[in-house]
Amino acid sequence: MAARLALSRWRAAPAAAGRGPLLSCRRWSGAKADTVYDVVVSGGGLVGAAMACALGHDTHFCDKKILLLEAGPKKVWEKLPETYSNRVSSISPGSATLLSSFGAWDHICNMRYRAFRRMQVWDACSEALIMFDKDNLDDMGYIVENDVIMCALTKQLEAVSDRVTVLYRSKAVGYTWPYPFPMTDSSPWVHITLGDGSTLQTKLLIGADGHNSGVRQAAGIQNISWNYDQSAVVATLHLSEATENNVAWQRFLPSGPIALLPLSDTLSSLVWSTSHEHAAELVSMDEEKFVDAINSAFPTKVSARQLPPSVARVDARSRMSFPLGLGHAAEYVRPRLALIGDAAHRVHPLAGQGVNMGFGDISSLVHHLSAAAFNGKDLGSMSHLTGYETDRQRHNTALLAATDLLKRLYSTSATPLVLLRTWGLQATNAVSPLKEQIMAFASK
Ligand SMILES: Cc1cc2nc3c(=O)[nH]c(=O)nc-3n(C[C@H](O)[C@H](O)[C@H](O)COP(=O)(O)OP(=O)(O)OC[C@H]3O[C@@H](n4cnc5c(N)ncnc54)[C@H](O)[C@@H]3O)c2cc1C
Repeated sequence: MAARLALSRWRAAPAAAGRGPLLSCRRWSGAKADTVYDVVVSGGGLVGAAMACALGHDTHFCDKKILLLEAGPKKVWEKLPETYSNRVSSISPGSATLLSSFGAWDHICNMRYRAFRRMQVWDACSEALIMFDKDNLDDMGYIVENDVIMCALTKQLEAVSDRVTVLYRSKAVGYTWPYPFPMTDSSPWVHITLGDGSTLQTKLLIGADGHNSGVRQAAGIQNISWNYDQSAVVATLHLSEATENNVAWQRFLPSGPIALLPLSDTLSSLVWSTSHEHAAELVSMDEEKFVDAINSAFPTKVSARQLPPSVARVDARSRMSFPLGLGHAAEYVRPRLALIGDAAHRVHPLAGQGVNMGFGDISSLVHHLSAAAFNGKDLGSMSHLTGYETDRQRHNTALLAATDLLKRLYSTSATPLVLLRTWGLQATNAVSPLKEQIMAFASK
């Protein structure tokens, strides 16, 4: 009964929206309240925007109406800012292939990114190390500013604006599903209420609204989650001298991993996961002390084949910290609903996999939806949505579990565990097929 009442309230809303102030009418320029969208993506972060792009460029979706809702403003640049952003992602070759499939990777290449060919990981307690590299000169991955990826996605969304409508500054505040009660006398679609009181309908709602997903909560999907006792400090660092800078460095300190990711010959990006107190200290300490802290966190003399570059200074105002946590939705799909990206899974950044998992979700979901569209099937039907869930839960749960285990294993200096991980790291480093399997899994 509650669901029926909710639906009847929804129905009254479009008329009310029509009487709204001019500002809210303007926002409706692209979206029509009486239209039933084939797909609405709620949340236009990296994953939601890429999802809308992928659908908009899919030939089997050429007659479909797609809507992307984003609570924040449109981020456009007249020209690429000279200063690098402090928010960057390590993008796997598999994610680059997805971005290429709808033209976004070309834009990224024309803006800026840095390829890396090697990754070197140490344990601070034992100096055991593992080195991942590509002997065939293939790239292992790419460090790209999140803003650059978003700018590329925005350009590719504009290229399909006849199929994909994007509403910026449009926050979804309520969702109603046509179940658990059979709605024979009412709409069979998902209804979405926006912050200005207007409503929309869709055959399939894709929740891409981040780790605090309102879509997931409104659907009552259980989310297993916990906060880590760590925050990640990010910053843009200037190196002491220009180098080839094509290695991603990570060292596991007892307080958490510190990573230096290459941005250019003279710049690297820092991701330092540490206790909340230490993170707050790192963000507020003076520049000289901060630079010293980074340089002394990396070894100056080890058996490593190569040493990380030393840091000379930090970009003003680039230091920031983010609390870290883990989350996993028990279900990724329900009838007329799919969750993707951080709405479905949140992971510690130590493996640099969060957005890559989200891009993997997109590849899988687009594959299943494209086949459904080609065969004239209902996009919101569980028959293909469960295919997506099975594919992705298998991959994502393995990655989440491995990342959580690494986080815990390296957060201790207890001797038996240090010995265990030293042996594990050295053994993995020595066994090429195992290393190759790890690289193949992480590059998806
Ligand atoms: C320090 C750090 C470093 C990281 N490094 C890496 C890395 O190297 N590689 C990697 O793969 N991953 C990395 N990650 C993880 C990665 O950043 C996230 O996994 C990714 O950004 C999640 O994208 P998303 O689009 O799913 O969610 P979000 O980025 O959270 O986007 C959600 C979007 O939904 C919008 N939204 C929310 N609610 C609503 C609503 N009600 N209505 C409309 N819109 C709404 C928000 O405005 C937002 O734009 C890192 C994370 C951190 C914290």
